[in-house]
Amino acid sequence: MILNFQNIGKYLLHVLLPRTCAHCREDLLYTDDEPLCPHCRGALEPLTGLCCRKCGSPLESGGEYCFDCRGHKGGGPNVELVRSAFAFNPELRSLIHAFKYRGRRDLAEPLGREMAAAYGGSAELNGYKFLVAVPLFSDKERERGFNQSELLARVLAREKNLFLLEGAVERVRNTPSQTGLSKEDRRGNVKGAFKAVKPELLKGRRVLIIDDVATTLSTVNELAGTLLKAGAKDAAALTLAREP
Ligand SMILES: [Zn+2]
Ligand SMILES: [Zn+2]
Repeated sequence: MILNFQNIGKYLLHVLLPRTCAHCREDLLYTDDEPLCPHCRGALEPLTGLCCRKCGSPLESGGEYCFDCRGHKGGGPNVELVRSAFAFNPELRSLIHAFKYRGRRDLAEPLGREMAAAYGGSAELNGYKFLVAVPLFSDKERERGFNQSELLARVLAREKNLFLLEGAVERVRNTPSQTGLSKEDRRGNVKGAFKAVKPELLKGRRVLIIDDVATTLSTVNELAGTLLKAGAKDAAALTLAREP
């Protein structure tokens, strides 16, 4: 190994603050900037296989649409289509947790680049040049110090020459966490949660909603409804993770 000042600096940091994998807690090499060890990194599951053409959920037995979308229930009435970079597996869950709650704001960069790769790999998204990040309620954003979806959207916009419509929509209601709620309750939980505060930014545009994790798509659908009402031509969504 070439011993240079950068490596010496990293080595000293490693001795003072040993780094561990965000998932399995194994020690990481001090020369490695990755948050996951090679084993956990290899366990991430990019959604590049067969997916529903509308809602983007992985299909196990072929066909073009998932069961829900064949019955016109999947994806929801407002959002045109949904794509995601990865399946929401335990390794990715740890990674997103480190990003959102454990001070690893720097992870926006590699994760945003993964979203840029997913955007590039989904030809059907290429007509969407304007991004809206799912907004957090102002108190929550202040507490966390950032909006994770907005950080991801910034990296994606830079990588793919897209336009992030900052401040176009706000979350006007502090909705409780969706975790543990039924599909019906989730829909009710986010109803009326968003408001288009700069409709002039949305008018006539095809808007791509950016979120970190999509589960039932109720948040994405509610926001898509708000965008359409404000005059957007249509709305699709790209998320980092997809929970089936
Ligand atoms: Zn690991
Ligand atoms: Zn579907």
